[in-house]
Amino acid sequence: MPEMMRAIRKLQAGPGAELCTVPVPEIGPRDVLVKVKATSVCGTDYHIYSWDPWSQNRVKPPLTVGHEVAGEVVAIGRDVTATKVGDAVSAETHIICNNCPRCHVGEYHLCERTRILGVDVDGCFAEYVAVPEQNIWINDKDIPWAIQSIQEPLGNAMHTAMEGDLTAQTVMITGCGPIGIMAVPIAKTAGAELVVAMDVNEYRLDMAKRLGADILINPMKEDPIEVVRSHTRGYGVDVVLEMSGNPTAIRQSLKSARNGARVSLLGLPSKPMELDLGADVVMRGLVLKGITGRKMWKTWYQVRSMLRAGLAERLKPLITHELPLEGVHEAMELMGAGKCGKVVLNPEMAAK
Ligand code: NAD
Ligand code: ZN
Repeated sequence: MPEMMRAIRKLQAGPGAELCTVPVPEIGPRDVLVKVKATSVCGTDYHIYSWDPWSQNRVKPPLTVGHEVAGEVVAIGRDVTATKVGDAVSAETHIICNNCPRCHVGEYHLCERTRILGVDVDGCFAEYVAVPEQNIWINDKDIPWAIQSIQEPLGNAMHTAMEGDLTAQTVMITGCGPIGIMAVPIAKTAGAELVVAMDVNEYRLDMAKRLGADILINPMKEDPIEVVRSHTRGYGVDVVLEMSGNPTAIRQSLKSARNGARVSLLGLPSKPMELDLGADVVMRGLVLKGITGRKMWKTWYQVRSMLRAGLAERLKPLITHELPLEGVHEAMELMGAGKCGKVVLNPEMAAK
């Protein structure tokens, strides 16, 4: 085992991140050391890189960033029981406390004291990452590393989608960023009757189409509420999966939903926003559900099951870029421009 490794670190409270040489992390008795094979870039990494107001309040440099990971187990602590050297693994990124009331009743994703890999503790934009065994998920080895790596955001999409019925339902997905796009083949695999995808970005709409969306809406060009009604006999969709966090899109999604519809909200508005709660929610009996993280571990089982049922193959076009660690700045530019699906860093890839 080498003593030193390369890692992308946030060294200062300000924009940017640097490729550094640091010691390979030490593992405690209940930890697992993972040799990173693929680590995909999330919007959160971009927020930390660009040092937005959320990061300024939350992140305490120095920190190795990155949380979406797949790799091979190369060492285990002495109290590790179920994970073996050589396993192909990913990580649930929410490190829970096991002691709060929500953890006590098994609602781990709602833990009151969650810490997040690559946000609160050193993450995986590195050659190696240490992960508590309780956060390890063992993968099928025949799934490509890049697809194994995106299971964390795929779990966000899965959790949002699977909070209610999808079979034979009409579904609207607002926001086709990487997570919204993933919800398209999930809804299709789950047997949705119609999948409507909405985004202001044509590149992303095109990708949603390639992943199976039936109807595409660009709200800059047409009225989404009218388009949705025209495809649902005037009533609106049965299910909304809100994945944009954009206030206008959120208000339009509520108006596009039929009376009594389920609206699962994953997108995070950057500041407080206004809703016509009486007219759009209360009097129409909508069921709003906030979604955070992934259910531990129900969502991961759902992800595994759908990957095996063909979702792994359907998701391949979503991986648009694979770069070495040195490519982190290019990765962040792509994220900022929205001209990408999932961007994956591969620490074993040689720099150009
Ligand atoms: P993203 O920013 O890449 O995607 C958002 C998409 O919404 C973009 O493609 C953007 O073009 C689109 N959009 C913007 N304005 C729009 C409008 N008016 N109408 C339609 N689409 C519009 O983000 P992502 O990584 O795919 O994540 C989706 C959302 O989920 C983000 O808000 C993110 O912060 C949030 N998130 C929440 C959780 C959670 O646990 N709740 C976890 C991860 C991400
Ligand atoms: Zn807890």
